[in-house]
Amino acid sequence: MPPGTGWPGDPAGPQTPVARTPAQVVRLARAAGSVRDLDAAITVCRACPRLVQWRETVATTGRRASFADQPYWGRPAAGFGPAGAPVLVVGLAPAANGANRTGRMFTGDRSGDWIYAALHRGGYATRATSEHAGDGLELQGIRIVSAVRCAPPQNKPTTVEKATCAPWLHRELELAAPVLRSILALGSIGWDATLRTVREMGWTVPRPKPRFGHGAQAGLLTPDGRAVRLVGSYHVSQQNTFTGKLTEQMLDAVIAVL
Ligand code: SF4
Repeated sequence: MPPGTGWPGDPAGPQTPVARTPAQVVRLARAAGSVRDLDAAITVCRACPRLVQWRETVATTGRRASFADQPYWGRPAAGFGPAGAPVLVVGLAPAANGANRTGRMFTGDRSGDWIYAALHRGGYATRATSEHAGDGLELQGIRIVSAVRCAPPQNKPTTVEKATCAPWLHRELELAAPVLRSILALGSIGWDATLRTVREMGWTVPRPKPRFGHGAQAGLLTPDGRAVRLVGSYHVSQQNTFTGKLTEQMLDAVIAVL
């Protein structure tokens, strides 16, 4: 879906600058003066050739049969939720037929059914369901981002792809930092990406490195001395929710401490 062609919530337009190399990701992430600018730049990024090809192939010739008649977003997913939210959720990456189809984090797939129902129970979401980008769902006091912004094959980004995408998360955290109270990391990749990023930003992180686990917590300190709580949760993937590794009660418990 080309930028600025009417997709609900599309933050980019035809003039939005496009990052085509890792160096350009660094430059454009640093230059983003607001969450809106950051969202726009992320959603037109083309810096990872393998992921660009995968997301666009899924969006054109590789659609799931049940969505074959629908247009796909086929671009990186911007963060979802208000700028200036005191809570940030850091996930792994969009799903090929989820956010890569709908253009909104955790929207249109089973993972979204879980996370938004839990956020609704916790008072952070206006609805318990998230079906498409124009469904009216709004978040309050929370914003959802991911360590990698393009859908990867088998949900497995490479080390190079994670590093290439890292500056977007870095800028996201810089913009959020002045009002941030807590961060919910979904899965170990979100946990590790968050710790690596805040260390780069000069935050104080406990040593040895806090270990990821469901319900794990780590106290982080910003350079100006504000405490931010990092909380771990098993990812809301079907692999975890279908098998009972992650239950609704477990998810509600970690959201309650944010
Ligand atoms: S994964 Fe990140 S850096 Fe790579 S193309 Fe997508 S948005 Fe750009």
